[in-house]
Amino acid sequence: MNFDVKAVPSPSYVVEEQLLINNLQKMKTIIDQTGCKILLAQKGFSMFEVYPLIGEYLNGVTSSGLLEARLGYEEMGKEVHTYSPAFQEDEFDEILRYSDHLVFNSFAQWRRFKGRIQKSEKHVECGIRINPEYSEIEVDMYNPCFSHSRFGVTSADFAPDLLEGISGLHFHTMCEQNSDTLWRTIQVVDEKFGPYLKQMKWINFGGGHHITRADYDNATLIHSINFMKDKYGLDVYLEPGEAVALNTGFLVATVLDTLHNGMPIAILDTSASCHMPDVLEMPYRPEIIGASLPNEKPYTYRLGGPTCLAGDVIGDYSFDAPLQTGDRLVFCDMAHYSMVKNNTFNGMNLPSIALHTVKGETKIVKQFGYEDFKGRLS
Ligand SMILES: *Cc1c(COP(=O)(O)O)cnc(C)c1O
Repeated sequence: MNFDVKAVPSPSYVVEEQLLINNLQKMKTIIDQTGCKILLAQKGFSMFEVYPLIGEYLNGVTSSGLLEARLGYEEMGKEVHTYSPAFQEDEFDEILRYSDHLVFNSFAQWRRFKGRIQKSEKHVECGIRINPEYSEIEVDMYNPCFSHSRFGVTSADFAPDLLEGISGLHFHTMCEQNSDTLWRTIQVVDEKFGPYLKQMKWINFGGGHHITRADYDNATLIHSINFMKDKYGLDVYLEPGEAVALNTGFLVATVLDTLHNGMPIAILDTSASCHMPDVLEMPYRPEIIGASLPNEKPYTYRLGGPTCLAGDVIGDYSFDAPLQTGDRLVFCDMAHYSMVKNNTFNGMNLPSIALHTVKGETKIVKQFGYEDFKGRLS
């Protein structure tokens, strides 16, 4: 962390530009070495203030529907890919306007919208999402291949007779994984869908590639990409979300009060439920700078949010000194799946968004208030 925690409003998400650039450089190395294309999955990180910067390294964005497609089109202006589990009739023409690639979740969806694509002036590459029924994700919540999954066409349901106009296949079966998982997945995809890949121009390996993690094995990723390029002559796309923003941002919060109920408790101005929902949903324990596991340091506290939800608890942490009202705490790795998932439940305001630039300036990009809360209600 290189910024002054007192120089930002509390709470706020602070992204460090240099950390983001480090991640983007790692990804650009893969692009340069293989000729693959890497897209930002906006579902994981949509801080459009830095889209121009991301666009200097990556090839574009991937979107889950109309709103993300438009955001990527307007704010980055490079390739826009859109996949949705089901497109809506009344949104489709606008999605078509923003998108360069459209990926359909079923052959029925493809048949429904094919005519509208063919009628439009614009050239769009169309693909089908496949479900290779192979995933190493153990948590069902994050496993697109769990039983009765709604994502993608299995090999049993694949309809080769409907492939006219389809130029690519897409799979997304990974989450926070290394490239050994990818390589095993590629072999399954090859075995089950090889005959169809021969007719394709491109393949999209989806997201879940933890490319920017310290122990990530680039060589196996490069091998996997080259396998599909060499065997089938395919252009290869990857669309990581999390990896783009991994370890690039922080959430700065303040202690509002401390109390005691069987153990010391601190109430913060940030909420697990509203500002870091994955802490409850995933669930996971975010790191705090200078804090340790309970009882490792002399002063252990249960940290909770200011909402009225009993379970709005971030976790138990120990500190070198007793927490005081006004102390600032800095949560790590809060750039991805935070801003995109937060909410104003219980009338909680949203954290401000700040960027610490490579020049050393801390820019407050956006602050929120009553109008944002009111604006999504009626
Ligand atoms: C969520 C998602 C991604 C990005 O996943 P990360 O785990 O953030 O890398 C990419 N593609 C699709 C289709 C997704 O649903």
